[in-house]
Amino acid sequence: MIPVNEPLLNGKEAEYLKECIDTGWISSEGPFVKQFESTFAKQVNREHGVAVTNGTAALEVAIAALEIGEGDEVIIPTFTIISCAAAVVRAGAKPVLVDADAITWNMTAEAVEEKITPRTKAIMVVHIFGLPVEMKPMLALAAKHGLKIIEDAAQMHGQTCDGMPCGSFGDISTFSFYPNKHITTGEGGMVVTNDEALAERCKSLRNLCFQNEKRFYHEELGWNYRMTNMQAALGLAQLEQLEDFVNKKRQMGKQYSELLENVDELQLPLSSTSYANNIYWVFGMVLKDLSVEASHIQQELGKHKIGTRPFFWPMHEQPVFHKMGLFIDESYPVAENIARRGFYVPSGMALQANQIEEVASTLKEIIAKL
Ligand SMILES: *Cc1c(COP(=O)(O)O)cnc(C)c1O
Repeated sequence: MIPVNEPLLNGKEAEYLKECIDTGWISSEGPFVKQFESTFAKQVNREHGVAVTNGTAALEVAIAALEIGEGDEVIIPTFTIISCAAAVVRAGAKPVLVDADAITWNMTAEAVEEKITPRTKAIMVVHIFGLPVEMKPMLALAAKHGLKIIEDAAQMHGQTCDGMPCGSFGDISTFSFYPNKHITTGEGGMVVTNDEALAERCKSLRNLCFQNEKRFYHEELGWNYRMTNMQAALGLAQLEQLEDFVNKKRQMGKQYSELLENVDELQLPLSSTSYANNIYWVFGMVLKDLSVEASHIQQELGKHKIGTRPFFWPMHEQPVFHKMGLFIDESYPVAENIARRGFYVPSGMALQANQIEEVASTLKEIIAKL
């Protein structure tokens, strides 16, 4: 079996974890948490990092910290994970969707501009699959209209846009450390910002809004989204290897691209744009033939014990949102197409070159038989 994702944990993960056990520091009070927060924040040119339980929680905390709520609109891509839309909806605000670009699979400033209304409060910028959203026009647009930017950089550890780290853009940025991300803590997430007051609000929100003076007296509702010392221990050890991991992923992307470049039926990920080189969070591809759906190819690859995943299913085609009266009769053709014809192949950190060869040759055989 070639799993779709297998993490690599052969740095100092075991050593740091043992330290947690040996010292008895296993909760969020342990020293690795602050160390991970400050090291991670520094790596993305941010002054403050607030570690949380996962990337979804990071988005919820970011939205709440920016005081987005009833009557506000937040522009988000339709082609993303549900965490983005859920965070906006749970805050009582309205998610407003934009389609993806057909080549980069990312949202664009042009599409966002068309959706701005007097109620728009923020843009949630979500970088997809390893190539960042082009930030220059997005930042200019936000500045022109006085909008906040929440940057969801969950798939962008170690990536840059115009030479600046992803996670450094806008008012607040979020990360996930799920095992399929470039660095993992098992489950985990982080909010980063340069604004001290915002960082303090995030810390309070992740810790049930306990107060220093009167601990069990609450002015606001928060969550228990605290990261444990054991997760932070893993994160710190992973962070030490980030550069190697990014190089490794780029090498995987290059190998897949070379092996599949002559397959006319496949649209492969862009290796680079004027503002970034792909870090291939996953190696995704889209079938060009409109009569074949990705699920067919995935089933065939599965018979050969090769793990795959479909692309995101668009937010405007989610029954849960239709039941809430959201996105009824909305249509975003690019997201609809890539959701049906897109899939990704094994691209975890532990993947070997010979496995990539096997995946590519099996995929070519399956496509030749179509
Ligand atoms: C993974 C991911 C999340 C959610 O992170 P979890 O840690 O799984 O909750 C949010 N946004 C994007 C873009 C992601 O890829």
